Amino acid sequence: DELPGEAAGPLGPRQVPGYCYSRVAPTPVPDPHLLAWSEELGEFLGLAKPATRGPAVDALAGNLVTGSMKPFAARYGGHQFGNWAGQLGDGRAIALGQVAAVDGSRWEIQLKGAGPTPYSRRADGRAVLRSSLREFLCSEAMHHLGVPTTRALSLVATGDAVVRDMFYDGRAAPEPGAVVARVAPSFIRFGNFQLMAAHGELDNLRALADYTLRHHYPELGPPSPAVYVRWFEEVARRTAVMVAHWMSVGFVHGVMNTDNMSILGLTIDYGPYGWLEPYDPDWTPNTTDFGSRRYAFGQQPRVALWNLMALAHALGPLVDDPQALRPGLDLYADTLAATQHALMLRKLGLTPQGPAADADDRALTEALPEALAGPEIDMTIFFRQLSHQAPALLAAPARADELLDELLAAAAYAVVPGEEQLLRQWLRRYAQRLGQEAASGEAIRARMLGANPKYVLRNYLAQKAIEAAEAGDLAPLNTLFEVLKTPFAEHPAHEALAAKRPDWARDKPGSATL
Ligand code: AMP
Ligand code: MG
Ligand code: MG
Repeated sequence: DELPGEAAGPLGPRQVPGYCYSRVAPTPVPDPHLLAWSEELGEFLGLAKPATRGPAVDALAGNLVTGSMKPFAARYGGHQFGNWAGQLGDGRAIALGQVAAVDGSRWEIQLKGAGPTPYSRRADGRAVLRSSLREFLCSEAMHHLGVPTTRALSLVATGDAVVRDMFYDGRAAPEPGAVVARVAPSFIRFGNFQLMAAHGELDNLRALADYTLRHHYPELGPPSPAVYVRWFEEVARRTAVMVAHWMSVGFVHGVMNTDNMSILGLTIDYGPYGWLEPYDPDWTPNTTDFGSRRYAFGQQPRVALWNLMALAHALGPLVDDPQALRPGLDLYADTLAATQHALMLRKLGLTPQGPAADADDRALTEALPEALAGPEIDMTIFFRQLSHQAPALLAAPARADELLDELLAAAAYAVVPGEEQLLRQWLRRYAQRLGQEAASGEAIRARMLGANPKYVLRNYLAQKAIEAAEAGDLAPLNTLFEVLKTPFAEHPAHEALAAKRPDWARDKPGSATL
């Protein structure tokens, strides 16, 4: 109620000038039933796991709107693949309102796939089980890896059939529909501010900025031009921390359009995302981006900066001198570099040895990506295996070459002779560097195992869970979810879920957008 919202407009997609959101009710589905539930998030929100069918699941599917809910779809715009796309908005996500968690914090619950809104453009407002399962699992997996992210509370099947164009495997047959209940303090994106600025709705721009400050950045104090500047710096800082985490676990978002950038620095909108298997900066899971590879793994730091510039442009009218937003961009670059370095040191089991040694450590961490990109080597297995080898490398640095062969045997898909040379040199340096640590080999190994996940959501594992769920078997989904909740732990019964991608799964990217 604090922002201008459209009460109830005509049905059908349209431009909604002058408003920050539209009130719109979810469209009921034939047979809502629960497929998956995030126990941990539910407990935090004070919500018990519901039975498969019943009023709670009806609410999570959009079939039941209680008197205390005020469903709405947000109005936003964005740059898609670098081009200004005008009004986009929540075309298939409808927020139900907020709930208070056990610690008193407030969280928005949003149903993705809940039916058409004024922002649906030419699409149906629905989501398929395939993409919903991927969003559910990955949101929670990212949270348990310590990556800033929106959360997912439930995955509900709708009993509906939904038709999608499938770039992925060419099928355009009806697929089962689903709704994910996403949870975050807010789903406001860079694109919300951009649309207000682009359409000259400066009152809305200011109202939305002040709302965001009041509810999500109260520590910055009452709005003023100086506070908008500090706020932009904080958004830039958080964005850098988020991207640094992506880079440290091998996550590729896949569609870093400005409408998919959270104003809270959270990973948002799990569409055609993917996880690096062979370490490859050029890899993208997004089949629609195979040409330009704009959103490939190695581009993510630059794209986030580009997106922050777009946000700065939108916030310009709020500050006396738009140049005052420059330092935010510098802070982004500095935070990104510092966070990536700190995360990489942790992955390598190393601790800072003081300012004098810092330049050498930077050279060591910065040399690794290029060395890893030589052979075709699984990023997740590499770091896990390196953790186990740390004691031996520390005890006998001269064995580095021999240990490299073991490392490659464990983690490589293919090595063309010679491609491992940079990694060989790097491993020798790393073995020497380990000697500066005060901790024992075992202690270093233990802390590395706590920093390098054994389990990530490999693309083909998600696909197997999807195919089983589509056939009515939820066991693969449940097993995968269990393991991804403690990704740093050993799960001896599920070694297969930590294995190298099999050959048949080689060129299966993430499911394309819809
Ligand atoms: P995305 O590429 O997922 O970030 O989506 C871009 C825009 O398309 C957003 O405005 C979405 O709400 C909208 N959109 C995507 N899929 C659908 C759909 N099935 N129905 C309606 N709108 C959609
Ligand atoms: Mg989106
Ligand atoms: Mg999406």
